[in-house]
Amino acid sequence: MGFGRRKDKESRPWRLSAKLLIACSFITVIGFSAICVNVMLDMRRSEEELARQTLENLASGIDSDIGRNVELYDLSLRSVANNMMAPEINEVGKPLRQLILFDRVATARHFGAIQVFDSTGKLIVDASTLDPLPENRSSEEYFTVHRDQPNAGLFISRPMLHRGAYAIVLSRRITGDDGSFLGVVAGSIRFSYFHDLFGRLRLDPNDVITVFRRDGTVIMRTPFDLDMIGKNLGDLPGVKRALSEPSGSYSGIASANHSPRLYVWRDGTRPLVVLVGKPWADIYKLWRIEATRIGSIMGALAVFVLGATLFLAHEISRRAAAEEKLEELATTDALTGLRNRRKFDAAIEIEWRRAARQKRPLALLMIDADHFKNFNDTYGHQAGDEVLIGIAICISDSVHRAGDCAARYGGEEFAVLLPDLSPAQALVVAETIRLKVEQWCGEAATTTVSIGLASVVPDAKSEWTTMVRAADEALYAAKASGRNRTVLASGPKLSLVA
Ligand code: GH3
Ligand code: MG
Ligand code: MG
Repeated sequence: MGFGRRKDKESRPWRLSAKLLIACSFITVIGFSAICVNVMLDMRRSEEELARQTLENLASGIDSDIGRNVELYDLSLRSVANNMMAPEINEVGKPLRQLILFDRVATARHFGAIQVFDSTGKLIVDASTLDPLPENRSSEEYFTVHRDQPNAGLFISRPMLHRGAYAIVLSRRITGDDGSFLGVVAGSIRFSYFHDLFGRLRLDPNDVITVFRRDGTVIMRTPFDLDMIGKNLGDLPGVKRALSEPSGSYSGIASANHSPRLYVWRDGTRPLVVLVGKPWADIYKLWRIEATRIGSIMGALAVFVLGATLFLAHEISRRAAAEEKLEELATTDALTGLRNRRKFDAAIEIEWRRAARQKRPLALLMIDADHFKNFNDTYGHQAGDEVLIGIAICISDSVHRAGDCAARYGGEEFAVLLPDLSPAQALVVAETIRLKVEQWCGEAATTTVSIGLASVVPDAKSEWTTMVRAADEALYAAKASGRNRTVLASGPKLSLVA
């Protein structure tokens, strides 16, 4: 058909816009950040779980070592208490008695010598010597507890200076066949045992291990702190839990320094309870370094991506504006500022199809300057151009709606496309233009226009060229019938209306 078709904005809905690019970038950055945060939180949870497990194993190991030694020593005390009840014990000589009593007694570097006291607290037998110096321990708690309570069982004393060394004293009652109180067997476990035990462990400087007696008294602590030894911390909520539940953990602030720690205990049913603590800062130390590293890289990447996106978005906007400007230039007639022929062809194609779809009327005005050749010949080409501009102004002043398209069709010929206007309404517009041109020329009145009008409700099978042809024919009819008038084309029959 030879009518150029150009791509319109409407046929390019997926053109990358700056806003779409920024939205995509933001969503991507937020998505990646969310994944990153999630992974880091997972890592944090793993670190916490690992620390908890390590502390549990540590507490369990220390607990069983202490428990085993206390049990071993207790067995020795019981054996001595039993042997003291043997009738022969008072009949044999001192060396033999020593052998009978302490032959199977456990001895170790950190265990003190076992001593036997009679019911008045007087020392009667000492494992370390055949002739002990006179000694009376009737006022010591490890003696009185058994004298006053027949069922005290194994007694573990508060930490004390015992025979020249810090130690805990373990004691058991010697009970006669009739249940009478016959005395006490006592021995000690020196602090050196705990120092030795803790010294074998690989601990961080801020790790804390505390050994409690069941009433909450601190028996031993590492790092060693003499002020804490012997203190009763049974009222602290965490310690209270550790003394009442078999195993568990809590987060608490240490009384000594104020760093929050994770505390863990295992097997809290034994006579001594071990509580192991590690500062949260140490637990998360490696994680924090890693999180900072990953976070910084992610942050830098996010800044880079967003920066690049903003730059690209700016560039896209700039190009879009330039493209729009070019498009504007490419579709505008340079002389009159109206749409050019190319734009008109594209517009009529779209409007024709839309009108066919919606079964709405579409009107077309073909406007031609009368005797324009004469005008040119008389006043010159330049003056002719000015008249053409004047006609264009008259046209655009009369055509206001968004869908309307006023174009310079060629030479001194103009076309106006009026979607959705009935023939009568289109006629009003045509007459307005014609009268405006007439009035504008005023006194000189050397130029008028003739207008051919066609208004059609298109059907799907018809082509818009038929309407152009009809409007053209109406224009010729207007010329033929005297010019400066509008003629409405009505199908094959043309009607003269002005
Ligand atoms: P009619 O009333 O039958 O339309 O007579 P007419 O002289 O206007 O018709 P014709 O088609 O014979 O002449 C058209 C003239 O329009 C020829 C040309 O000099 C003039 N023309 C076409 N384009 C331009 C233009 O861009 N500027 C000027 N000044 N004149 C133009
Ligand atoms: Mg002409
Ligand atoms: Mg003409």
